[in-house]
Amino acid sequence: MVQLICEKGHRFEKSSSCRTCPTCERQRLKNLLPGLAAPAKRALLAHGIEQYSDVVNSQNPKLPSGME
Ligand SMILES: [Zn+2]
Repeated sequence: MVQLICEKGHRFEKSSSCRTCPTCERQRLKNLLPGLAAPAKRALLAHGIEQYSDVVNSQNPKLPSGME
């Protein structure tokens, strides 16, 4: 597990080589949502949540140990 700090100062951990900040990504997705049709929102959110495990973890009880 690697702890990273994004350019906006969010701290997050990544076990993979993906360095995208989940907090920024979630905000970005939210910002995109108002302009999208509902099916597109769902697809985008599903894709984003699937891609960024930290987002999943924040909404899901199945946390890997030590990742809280
Ligand atoms: Zn960030």
